[in-house]
Amino acid sequence: MNIHEYQAKALLRSYGCPVSDGRIVLRAEEAKTCASELDGPLWVIKAQIHAGGRGKGSFKEAEAGEKGGVRLAKSVEEAEMLTKQMLGRTLVTHQTGPAGKQVNRIYIEDGSDIARELYLALLVDRASSRVSFVVSTEGGMDIEEVAAHTPEKILSFSVDPASGLSDFHGRRVAFALGLEGGQVKQCVQLVKNLYRAFIEKDMEMLEINPLIVTPDGNIKCLDAKIGFDNNALYRQPDIMALRDETEEDSKELAASKFDLNYIALDGEIGCMVNGAGLAMATMDIIKLYGAEPANFLDVGGGATKEKVTEAFKIITSDPNVKGILVNIFGGIMRCDIIAEGVIAAVKEVGLQVPLVVRLEGTNVALGKEIIQNSGLNVIAADDLSDAAKKIVKAVKG
Ligand code: ADP
Ligand code: MG
Repeated sequence: MNIHEYQAKALLRSYGCPVSDGRIVLRAEEAKTCASELDGPLWVIKAQIHAGGRGKGSFKEAEAGEKGGVRLAKSVEEAEMLTKQMLGRTLVTHQTGPAGKQVNRIYIEDGSDIARELYLALLVDRASSRVSFVVSTEGGMDIEEVAAHTPEKILSFSVDPASGLSDFHGRRVAFALGLEGGQVKQCVQLVKNLYRAFIEKDMEMLEINPLIVTPDGNIKCLDAKIGFDNNALYRQPDIMALRDETEEDSKELAASKFDLNYIALDGEIGCMVNGAGLAMATMDIIKLYGAEPANFLDVGGGATKEKVTEAFKIITSDPNVKGILVNIFGGIMRCDIIAEGVIAAVKEVGLQVPLVVRLEGTNVALGKEIIQNSGLNVIAADDLSDAAKKIVKAVKG
């Protein structure tokens, strides 16, 4: 789960990390009051969406001369005007995809003077199974360029979980960032605070870009992006409360409410499968026969008829789906339950596209019988290859 920059900064502030003062604005009428509560003389107006690259992004509805989701204002009035311009508009950045994201919240923040822009991130490194720091002196809006063209300018090192974090790590970060004097001490403290927040809040990724050095020699987190481990959210109720459902894919959101593992993809064949391994194999074989999966939907081990019905509804609600492949191996999950779920769903929402069903395992005969007797226009398949071939043929002709 991701959160907004302003939420991330509030969290970091509570861990003693240096961030600017700011106010969140949900309605344009609040902008002036919020801006005047800050010191000035510079205000930064920041569109809050769950995507980076806002500074270099552009609004779909932009008129000439209006650029970017991070803008400077020199007066309270200008701050208000910029907030009004951005609220409700669609911001497109290299991370949002061409559809962009609607801006529903604006963060008005104290403007900072900047001497240097640095990059500092913590993440769970799967290769080393450890929390790693990723640092670069080349922070700011072009970090992707740095990664692509001068990767040697990005350094990474991990923390041994047995010995934990020590001041040594902080000094190593400070050295890699070219900090000096009092900044080193500030950096050691910041690294400690960030690491504590990362561990205590079950983060997956914490990115400060830019971490700045101000002209008077202090360091500050000017941007903050945090992703949390979904599997740990059950024990992080305060983080759960920060969830912004408008930022999520509506189908993925519906799936999560029914405890289904659903991920939207770009293809044309909807897949209802049980177990992540079978889901992977199903997607592979669809590709092998020349089509692309529209989603990854795993109904899990102990799905009920209701859950299967919901899963089917989610798949059929996607206009990109030109055909559906139900591929179930009944172990704990029984084939007759799947069959009943599919039929219930089709009765409720109808069936506009071809449907191939391949069932195997517990109660398979009963499952097949239920489908055959349903009178539905279902194409039966015997094994995985047969199922994939049939659905690709049905969709592509
Ligand atoms: P994004 O990474 O989504 O583009 P950032 O928050 O990093 O958004 O902002 C982009 C750039 O805007 C930063 O690299 C920095 O140069 C500038 N900026 C952001 N916040 C402030 C601020 N409070 N004061 C001054 N400049 C800022
Ligand atoms: Mg940034």
